[in-house]
Amino acid sequence: MVSHAPPLIELRNIVKSYGANTASADGAQSAVTRVLDGVSLSIEAGEFVAIVGASGSGKSTLMHILGCLDRPSAGQYLFAGRDIAGFSADELAWLRREAFGFVFQDYHLIATESARENVEMPAIYSGASEAERRRRADDLLIRLGLDNRLDHRPNQLSGGQQQRVSICRALMNGGHIVLADEPTGALDSKTGAEVMRLLEDLAGDGHTIILITHDRDVAARARRIIEIRDGQIIADSGAPARASRRASLDAGALVASMTAGVARSASFGADLRDALRAAWRVMWINSFRTLLTLLGIVIGVASVIVMMAIGAGTQKQVLEKMATFGSNRLYVIPGGDNPRGPGGTLSLDDVSIVRDVPNVTAAMPFLNSTVTVRYGNIDAQSPLWAVTEEAPRVLNWKPVRGVFFSADDERRLATVVLLGKRVREKLFGATDPVGHYILVNNVPFQVIGELEEKGATSGDADNDNMIMVPWSTGSYRLVGTTNLSWISVLIDRLDLADETAQKINQTLERAHRLHDFEVYNQAASVKAQTETQSTLTLMLGLIAAISLVVGGIGVMNIMLMTVRERTREIGIRIATGARQRDILRQFVTEATVVSCVGGTLGVAAGLIIGTGLIAAGIPAIFSIRAILGAFTCALLTGLVFGFMPARQAARLDPVVALTSE
Ligand code: ADP
Ligand code: MG
Repeated sequence: MVSHAPPLIELRNIVKSYGANTASADGAQSAVTRVLDGVSLSIEAGEFVAIVGASGSGKSTLMHILGCLDRPSAGQYLFAGRDIAGFSADELAWLRREAFGFVFQDYHLIATESARENVEMPAIYSGASEAERRRRADDLLIRLGLDNRLDHRPNQLSGGQQQRVSICRALMNGGHIVLADEPTGALDSKTGAEVMRLLEDLAGDGHTIILITHDRDVAARARRIIEIRDGQIIADSGAPARASRRASLDAGALVASMTAGVARSASFGADLRDALRAAWRVMWINSFRTLLTLLGIVIGVASVIVMMAIGAGTQKQVLEKMATFGSNRLYVIPGGDNPRGPGGTLSLDDVSIVRDVPNVTAAMPFLNSTVTVRYGNIDAQSPLWAVTEEAPRVLNWKPVRGVFFSADDERRLATVVLLGKRVREKLFGATDPVGHYILVNNVPFQVIGELEEKGATSGDADNDNMIMVPWSTGSYRLVGTTNLSWISVLIDRLDLADETAQKINQTLERAHRLHDFEVYNQAASVKAQTETQSTLTLMLGLIAAISLVVGGIGVMNIMLMTVRERTREIGIRIATGARQRDILRQFVTEATVVSCVGGTLGVAAGLIIGTGLIAAGIPAIFSIRAILGAFTCALLTGLVFGFMPARQAARLDPVVALTSE
């Protein structure tokens, strides 16, 4: 006639033993402690039950099993008729979150969080929105008389207030079943009585209350008393008649909603924000320690940035120097591997041959000598460059005053000269030399221009201390030889420099019938220099990477310490319904925050040091890529090295974590 729903909670012959995992049938029982020894009981929704017993009788162990914080060694636990042995870790977490609310003897509040934040925690794991969470937490705290303590930290609250906060937390997700382990144990009798009155009110509202106590007077307030001794139930006053109960919970409906509830996780944003906040607090509280541990990352990131900047700066300087004459140049120099003679000669015919090689834009004869120049009563020795009208293009060198000589001058053996800046200074001072005549080896030459300043380049003492005359004039009138010092070759495509050099080699060798010259490849030398630079930069980068790894180990160290110090907090979080992945995510987030802070400090330090170097005249060019790269490395380091401690935290056994210290 009356349809019997299964009881809310039913324990069948529950055994919990410590020691050996499997007790052998024949003795060796001394190694095994049976803390619970065949406990069977059933509790209906809406009951107010006290479990009473002496200290050490197994009450807390029973409560941990009831609250799904611990699994029995043997026996069955049916929740609304469903055997929880078949529940996954996530389903158990859901049950803790939605069905149970824990109240502990020493409150178990998270010390770094405010009253409100402590109360909000179960709702974070169940995925309530921030506004909703806050509203409910504030309602509960106000209802329990903590209106003006919302933002207080646990250590700013009295014991009774802390216990009320923990009751609010138990009620946050509904608190259908409140499991209270010695809730008045740490309180004076007056506050203890207040807490008991609260529990009675909750029972009156239909909450299922399971109260654990060693105090018979406290137990007497409940409607049903179960007495436990040495892990066995020795008395049970029995459940009162169904009519007297008004349950807040339809257990069947709750369990039916489990699949949907488990799937619904904390909203990622809220979860992240909670984790970030927690991470920030922990870092702030241990700021000095954190800073020390972060030093590795800071140094790593800063050195990557500075070294890359110096590398780039130096490289740019080298390339700029190279570019003074341009890198797409080849030189054909007389001499070579002819064992019989002092080296061959190069003539204008060779210039024509070279000019016809593919990829050669220009080939220019070059004759180098030393002459005496005179203007008025000033004498000077000066290098002579006898070149053609192609020189401005081939040498990448133009006059700043006057004009360069023409092909016509070349043909006519014109006695015209262009002065390097230093020669002009020596002979003319600040006066414009163009149009004046000077004597070059006692031959009068008209100055038609002054060359732009080149400055000293690597290998050349001083490019500005020389004069340029047409090749023909220099060859026939001044030096008296048609043998060239070398041929300057301008090529079109730099990437074909090697092939072109080879081609010149072949063609000239065919013409000379021996290899009495050498082709010098400026492009190859630039390439070699650049490669040396890159190797250097890579080395520096490697050093920086090593310091990043050291920094990562620092992060791992700080995270391992954090996990150890906060074992109990982890237990509390699990008891309020956190899943393994919630804990994992929190600690990975913390590691990431720590390394982000390290990375940011490192970037700042790198920029400051680099700016200082630039101010001191050291060439440095900041590279966005290096900055981003170093920061990303720091972040990844934190993630990688923070993962292991985080996983360790997530895998903690809830009871061990809760009862640590
Ligand atoms: P109560 O809460 O009734 O005081 P507990 O349930 O905490 O008792 O403990 C019951 C017994 O189980 C005690 O004798 C205790 O020493 C033992 N016990 C509890 N936890 C462990 C454990 N992790 N390993 C071994 N023995 C334990
Ligand atoms: Mg106990």
